[in-house]
Amino acid sequence: MKRILIVGAHSDDPIIGAGGTARELAKIGNHVAVVSVCGDRIAGYEEAIRLLGAEPIHFDFSYGDIPDEKLSQLLREFFNNFKPDIIFTHWGNEILYDHGVVSQNVLKVARLYEKEVFFFEIPASSLEFTFDVAVDISESFDFKKRAIEVMKEAFDERVFREEVYPSIVYPSGFRGIQVGCKFAEVFKHAGSRFPLSPFRRRLLKLEDL
Ligand SMILES: [Zn+2]
Repeated sequence: MKRILIVGAHSDDPIIGAGGTARELAKIGNHVAVVSVCGDRIAGYEEAIRLLGAEPIHFDFSYGDIPDEKLSQLLREFFNNFKPDIIFTHWGNEILYDHGVVSQNVLKVARLYEKEVFFFEIPASSLEFTFDVAVDISESFDFKKRAIEVMKEAFDERVFREEVYPSIVYPSGFRGIQVGCKFAEVFKHAGSRFPLSPFRRRLLKLEDL
């Protein structure tokens, strides 16, 4: 059993980026914790994360107001207590500042602890996102949808209808087509501290070609 940590800036981000993967990982017996760095717009969050089989946690920062140093300190304390083996968080090049600051700080702390990091995508924010691994979430797709549905009240009605919900529904099918399954979530593997390389799992096995 591994300890998996999924960190998003806002309550909907971990579900959009890795909600199906959270459930797939929990299903096979891993302990999955999901953190929303912001503690506002959180209605339904606990129920949503529990639907995915994960443990819901939130910090108390506010939308658009995540101080760098404070976040770094809090993440270090959290890593000391939770002791994650594998971490999923935001891609670094993001339109939304909150996403970028969370990505940078999670990566910084994860490297201190020599942990594996994977970056997820947020369709309305991630710029020039690329992936190198994918998870088949076909069996978990309905749970991902239900998870965001129970959080409906947390968002402005139009934002939910035109941005949040479509971000859950459409990318999974698109990524599924790309990687050869019905629904998928995709990630960029950042590797861990030693050896310092995101490419160490990319050795081609010639005998498998
Ligand atoms: Zn967000």
